[in-house]
Amino acid sequence: MYESYSANLFDGSLLKKTHTEQADAVVVGSGPGGATVARDLAGAGLRVVLIEEGRLWLPQDFPADAWTANAELYRNVGATLAMGNLPIPLVQGCAVGGTSVINGAISWRLPQDIHQEWLATDPALEQSIGWTALSEAMDRVESDLHIHPTPPEISGPNNLLLGKGADALGIAHRPIYRNVKGCRGLGRCMQGCPEGHKMSMDRTYIPEALAHNARLFYSTTALRVLHQDGKAQGIQAITKAGANLRVLAPRVVLAAGALHSPLLLWKSRLRHPSLGQGFQCHPGVGITGRFPNPVRMWEGATQGHEVIGLRHEGIKIEALGFDMAFVASRLKSFGPALTDDIANLVFWSNWGAAIRAEARGSVRPSWRGQPHVRFSLTQNDLFKIRRGIRVMAEIMLAAGATAVYPGIYGWHDKLSDPAPLAHLEQEVPLHPKRFNALATHLFGTCRLGSNPQLAVLDPFFQSYTTQGLFVSDASVFPSNTGVNPQTSIIALAHLCALAILQRT
Ligand SMILES: Cc1cc2nc3c(=O)[nH]c(=O)nc-3n(C[C@H](O)[C@H](O)[C@H](O)COP(=O)(O)OP(=O)(O)OC[C@H]3O[C@@H](n4cnc5c(N)ncnc54)[C@H](O)[C@@H]3O)c2cc1C
Ligand code: SF4
Repeated sequence: MYESYSANLFDGSLLKKTHTEQADAVVVGSGPGGATVARDLAGAGLRVVLIEEGRLWLPQDFPADAWTANAELYRNVGATLAMGNLPIPLVQGCAVGGTSVINGAISWRLPQDIHQEWLATDPALEQSIGWTALSEAMDRVESDLHIHPTPPEISGPNNLLLGKGADALGIAHRPIYRNVKGCRGLGRCMQGCPEGHKMSMDRTYIPEALAHNARLFYSTTALRVLHQDGKAQGIQAITKAGANLRVLAPRVVLAAGALHSPLLLWKSRLRHPSLGQGFQCHPGVGITGRFPNPVRMWEGATQGHEVIGLRHEGIKIEALGFDMAFVASRLKSFGPALTDDIANLVFWSNWGAAIRAEARGSVRPSWRGQPHVRFSLTQNDLFKIRRGIRVMAEIMLAAGATAVYPGIYGWHDKLSDPAPLAHLEQEVPLHPKRFNALATHLFGTCRLGSNPQLAVLDPFFQSYTTQGLFVSDASVFPSNTGVNPQTSIIALAHLCALAILQRT
């Protein structure tokens, strides 16, 4: 796929000489936010340069084991920490295609009730991201990325058991809608699909942008936005081989993700009262369980089934297939019991709950120039985490698990029947140290809005401080969404590109 575009591809690990590019637009970051804008602007005839810090991977080169994938494809080995009452690893990808390369392919439209919340807070957003325009953009995403429900033949037992347990308890559930084409259920979405079946940005919008003559500099890091007299002028970057790259363009689009887009604004001395404020995420908690029959959670669609009946409580449960090495690393046993657990890994299952946390935190540069994130869960958030664990454990036992490991510090390590779960609320106080969480969905650090004191960007994605500077990634979201965000990010990015073109 990339051979045809070799003239437009520049590997920063080989670029050793200072270089200047002229373009109509420069886009930083090639995840869902950046790839979409690059594709749309290039498709409209603009000369586009796309800069990405990560390297370009071809499907056959993706690491098969999760540990190597973590080291190679995940930013900071998947462990940028949010510091607060419970330290939470914030997981992000770093590759051409951004986090879409290593995500679970779950594709959710932005729920209309969340959109209504946004507009109730700021009715001016109707002009740029009104429901009709957003719905049309989401229709387009669904068609472009082949989004469809996971068929039973590639679900695999880990997914089907979640449906079975939820059915037994009468909780609404469904096969997950995923952006895949010809998926064979190889269970490796989070290491990069080895056969290219996941319709991530590296398989879709980036090649399309290149076909429209966009130029991609990968293994290249943007250092700051160039600007003068309140106008954006381009990007100063450095290649992995150490050469300066200067891209001069009147339109600059930051899409480096919800931690790195605000960081770039800080580094460019483009301060704003609410820059980096309002950070939100979906902390995720997981449970494991053992079934009497083989589950082989590493087979089937990595994430193929979900419980949707608790979404209005801010809890969404998903099956989550891990690589065997990851599963083994989570076992708590030792000695002969550990030997037995490892010999019987085929019987283990893992599910997770994503929580729509109400807490808001902040991102600022650390003394090392990396994102320093502060974020503390509220009592309400801890309540949802505890409830999510309880419901997951009940579903797992209802699906036939012989043992469930709820992962709550200082409580039952292992449950074989649901009776103790009835006492969970009395026995486990809402103390953050009782729980383990990580977050993969990050939002809201350069928000859109009509009030320049509260929002970094105007409703049309343009910076309040700098003309020609736009942000197009999960940073712009007014809040978290309670559902997996990539479809919404891509849809908003289409609207961002439209706004840029309408100003041209
Ligand atoms: C393990 C995992 C599973 C997930 N599963 C799902 C899922 O199934 N469904 C879903 O909807 N969402 C999922 N997500 C979340 C989703 O993938 C992200 O929300 C989405 O990719 C964010 O898009 P983005 O464009 O904002 O940022 P990213 O996709 O993170 O892209 C930002 C890009 O910018 C690059 N960058 C950063 N700084 C610089 C710089 N200075 N110079 C150059 N480049 C830079 C980064 O390397 C990165 O490639 C998952 C996330 C993770 C971590
Ligand atoms: S489940 Fe496997 S085949 Fe399907 S998209 Fe993910 S990695 Fe590719």
